[in-house]
Amino acid sequence: MSNPNAAPAPVTVIGLGLMGQALAAAFLKNGHPTTVWNRSSAKADELVANGAVLAPSVEAAVEAGPLVVICVSDYDAVHALLDPLEGSLKGRTLVNMTSASSAQARATSKWAVEREVGAYIDSAIMAIPPAIGTDEAILLYSGPKTAFDEHEETLKAIAPEATLYLDEDPGVASLYDVALLGVMWSVENAFLHGAALLGTAGVKATAFLPLAKALAEMTGGFLDAYAQQIDDGEYPADDATITTHILAMEHLVDESRELGVNTELPELIKVFGQRAVAAGHSDNSYAAMIEQFRKPSA
Ligand code: NAP
Repeated sequence: MSNPNAAPAPVTVIGLGLMGQALAAAFLKNGHPTTVWNRSSAKADELVANGAVLAPSVEAAVEAGPLVVICVSDYDAVHALLDPLEGSLKGRTLVNMTSASSAQARATSKWAVEREVGAYIDSAIMAIPPAIGTDEAILLYSGPKTAFDEHEETLKAIAPEATLYLDEDPGVASLYDVALLGVMWSVENAFLHGAALLGTAGVKATAFLPLAKALAEMTGGFLDAYAQQIDDGEYPADDATITTHILAMEHLVDESRELGVNTELPELIKVFGQRAVAAGHSDNSYAAMIEQFRKPSA
């Protein structure tokens, strides 16, 4: 377990794109001796002016301390940089903040074991660069808990309020990443479709916004009961049945068509409702549709 009263521990950041620069800046701001490396070294200039040390090679960067954070475009770049290293990562903790699939994260964890990396932690960044180091940042981690505990205090520089350990399985952080992005895009798409509908009546998106936000918040409240129902595998319709939902879904499709607005999103919503009814869930709650999502697409 890391000691919150200890002097800030050294950290290395490899990859100084938009995100890597924000990560390194957050470590520096919290007093961590920070070593950096980037393929295009000019991107380190501002960080060096603020106290970072620019390593002359990836190897030197890795060997500068016990904790190595890498954040580059993709896992091909991760391997292009780290595969050639011979033993430099032994005994060190590698935290990979590069976005990837859960399968890539698990494969890289295996690679790390074969390479005798001290510990491999996979991470997902649920934030944009300006939010790094602020209370808005959410950082997710999966992999060996003991290694996370050891470096948690250092990692908190990136997300002071939400440095979240999830699971020993290194793929879980990436799975959360895509699942949460799905939530984000669903809300955004619904807002955009609604704004298109209301736009036909001259209603501005800014006028729609407060009620759209209220509904998004109210819907978040519905999820408390649905999550429990999904885990229990039983879907009592305490609020509304899927039959009732389908009638309203049809209004959304018809209204969209009549107003010349795109119908694909409401059609998709309706199709899932219809499938749930066909599977015998007409009198169940909306949560019963989980069974349609669990199946592979036809
Ligand atoms: P970026 O600004 O495009 O930076 C990409 C970085 O990868 C640069 O440091 C680049 O080096 C390096 N790189 C790419 N290919 C390389 C190679 N073959 N060898 C060595 N270095 C290579 O991207 P970013 O926004 O920082 O994103 C980095 C990661 O964070 C991505 O996985 C992204 O999905 C994730 N992320 C980003 C955000 C965001 O809002 N930006 C949010 C969440 C997660 P050069 O500078 O030399 O080109």
